[in-house]
Amino acid sequence: MSSVLDLRQFLNSSPTPFHAVQSIKRQLIDKDFKELRESQLWETMRGGKYYVTRGETSIVAWVQGESFPDHGAHIIGAHTDSPNLRLKPHPNINRNGYRQLGVEVYGGVLLGTWTDRDLSLAGRVFVESANGLKTYSLLCGQPLIRIPQLAIHLNREVNEKGLQLNRQKHLPPILTKSQNWETDDALKFWLAEELDLDGSKIRSWDLSLYDTQSAECWGPNLEFIASARLDNLFCCFTGLQALCKSRSAKPWTQVLVCYDHEEIGSQTTEGAHSSFLEFVIRRLAEQTESRQAYERAVANSILVSADMAHAVHPNYSEQHDPNHFPQMNEGPVIKRNSQGRYATSAKTEAWFEQICYKSNVPVQKFVMRTDLACGSTIGPITAARLGVETVDVGAAMLAMHSIRETCGSLDVDYLIKAFEAIYEEHLPITN
Ligand code: ZN
Repeated sequence: MSSVLDLRQFLNSSPTPFHAVQSIKRQLIDKDFKELRESQLWETMRGGKYYVTRGETSIVAWVQGESFPDHGAHIIGAHTDSPNLRLKPHPNINRNGYRQLGVEVYGGVLLGTWTDRDLSLAGRVFVESANGLKTYSLLCGQPLIRIPQLAIHLNREVNEKGLQLNRQKHLPPILTKSQNWETDDALKFWLAEELDLDGSKIRSWDLSLYDTQSAECWGPNLEFIASARLDNLFCCFTGLQALCKSRSAKPWTQVLVCYDHEEIGSQTTEGAHSSFLEFVIRRLAEQTESRQAYERAVANSILVSADMAHAVHPNYSEQHDPNHFPQMNEGPVIKRNSQGRYATSAKTEAWFEQICYKSNVPVQKFVMRTDLACGSTIGPITAARLGVETVDVGAAMLAMHSIRETCGSLDVDYLIKAFEAIYEEHLPITN
């Protein structure tokens, strides 16, 4: 159960993509990975362990191969962001004696699940200093704000009609009734006190609401994990454990990429549509001084795009295709979609299945019901951006995008084991 405990700690310490990258960095530094910066010249060594971040919310880490680009890279990809509510630049609202905070919706939030929870604030604050802008990290810890539901006596049809929430009107959480919060700068001064800095120097923030309840195991055998952000910190964590366990350098480069902004379409500087991973591979290829090194590296590479999958829900099993019922605790799920919403091909599916069989990891397959729209992930975007053969996989879970999602405890080690094999094995995909 030790990886489950570590996963729970990882989830608790990573309420935002910024914190997730900090958590990943801590583990990498522990394993002697060295930080590189995109703005500087790189001189990397074969067998060396490195990482680089972009925007402090996306990260690429790798163990450099002995025979790059001829062996390319074995890449595992995931995303650091999760749907949530984010603070507006001028958030103060005074209504009927209450001080509230104005929020925006980030990604496909299951809004009703954010009501009646012990919420707080986390993220980063940008502060003017003598040497330019300085970033301060905020993780409040204590319950600070709340979005109470309307009593059933005032909303008699809520059980029949479902909870209807207007995003502008019904989402602002209640903060306080204190008079001290009436001014526009109240939040700034509170932040200044929390972070021990001069409030007049705060220029902007990137603050999210999050649930202060810790990740927990549940069930008579503790076979499930309940937490926020399992989509997709589960895959960032399992990919990271596999990379950190990697015992030695291989002919191929072992890469982990964790992107921000998947939940809003990836079209950002740090997202899967960006140049981030391409630039890393290009820089490693250029150092070999062999011709067409980048193109050869990509052609010799494989990407395992790891994101969560929908387990069949016993109360709603009609939402799944009857021949494709992914289950929690039954190993990684390979995701296919003939419209290209997943990048898996028959070939990459066969490749991943073979890796799982060889490693004694059970494996499952998923397609969406033909009459329902299919979600997507970083797989197809990265596959198209780089031209790298890709398989989309994930762990089965319930209540995706809820503030309290559920996944299987056994799947933590199954995914780590499968990802370790991806890094360790040489099972060529190209002929
Ligand atoms: Zn996801």
